[in-house]
Amino acid sequence: MTETTKTGNKNWRPETTLVHGGTMRSPFGETSEAMYLTQGFVYDNAEAAEARFNGEDPGFVYSRYANPTVSMFEDRIKALEGAEAARGTASGMAAVNLALMASVKAGDHVIAAKALFGSCRYICETLLPRFGVESTLVDGTDIEQWKAAVRPNTRALFLESPTNPTLEVIDISAVADIAREAGARLVVDNVFATPLYQSPLKLGADVVVYSATKHIDGQGRCLGGVVLSDEEWITEEVMPFVKHTGPHMSPFNAWVLMKGLETLHVRVARQTDTARKIADHLAGKAKVKRLVYPGRDDHPQAELARRQMRAGSTMLALEVEGGKEAAFRFTNALDIIRISNNLGDAKSLITHPATTTHQSIGEEARAELGITDGILRLSVGLEDPQDLLEDVEKALNAV
Ligand SMILES: *Cc1c(COP(=O)(O)O)cnc(C)c1O
Repeated sequence: MTETTKTGNKNWRPETTLVHGGTMRSPFGETSEAMYLTQGFVYDNAEAAEARFNGEDPGFVYSRYANPTVSMFEDRIKALEGAEAARGTASGMAAVNLALMASVKAGDHVIAAKALFGSCRYICETLLPRFGVESTLVDGTDIEQWKAAVRPNTRALFLESPTNPTLEVIDISAVADIAREAGARLVVDNVFATPLYQSPLKLGADVVVYSATKHIDGQGRCLGGVVLSDEEWITEEVMPFVKHTGPHMSPFNAWVLMKGLETLHVRVARQTDTARKIADHLAGKAKVKRLVYPGRDDHPQAELARRQMRAGSTMLALEVEGGKEAAFRFTNALDIIRISNNLGDAKSLITHPATTTHQSIGEEARAELGITDGILRLSVGLEDPQDLLEDVEKALNAV
């Protein structure tokens, strides 16, 4: 390597870190980071191989452990997040699973907020108990419920904020205090806020996870995830799990996602701006029963959102009058906004959670989470804001 900005520069602002952080240049001096599509690495002699394996020489050994392109991605997002260490994973779910599995053993207990991405809920509710880890689901916005759920063997607390799909905001600092007191690790899934607009580690969380599939790619191409935390835990608990069970990110995906980081700021800023415009346009319309947007003063936790987030969100939730039928009519009348369960994309995407992403949790769990038959989740993209406003207006007329 001829030049490296592996750790970035502490004085850089986020936009600069997103462009230059983590870059390692080969002797060719390439402008754009190289994609190292290699499974393994060769050694000059047997002694060099021995030194690599016993840790005397800190180079690469095998891409299930680490890979130069994946390392560049990890170092870039690590610098942005202000974390000591990061591991890239094959998907967001691999990151969530890794963060929880590396925190617990049989006999331990986990507390999670109920309003979770479906697969995260499956891990807490179904998978962990199969391995002797009990879990308690609480209403994440009710701090007393977190406190009451703590047991002597509680080792991890898990939440996402804002939540999917109703965009509730959970007080990360308050939950972090409870975790610290309990001697447990607080894991925050920060997908909806993005690393630009919320910094859970600075709010007291121990671990941050992302599905890089969402805003970090932002153009619907690759799956990926990342776990960020302190050096000691990543080295001692996360790294062995990655090495021996194989959820590491592929170098191809790492390359795409690293290039995604370069433009993350401009995309997310624009998408947030447009989301705000659409939210303001829809709020108070006769056919809109409920509109939830974390950047607005009428958000149920507006004060908390202002305190812990630096901006609103690229997402909004709206409930149209007339239940499922009206929601379907609205969705089907859209021309530009596409029907998809993904989010954070350049293309605006709409989801009807009750019949798609949250179908399997059942009616009772949906009611508990405020996921009514009329609620829609809109992920705002990069299209011209006026075109999107005209699209939602047309859809509203169809309701
Ligand atoms: C998408 C998503 C995940 C899972 O990520 P994948 O990359 O699809 O595995 C986890 N949490 C949240 C909040 C998500 O939006």
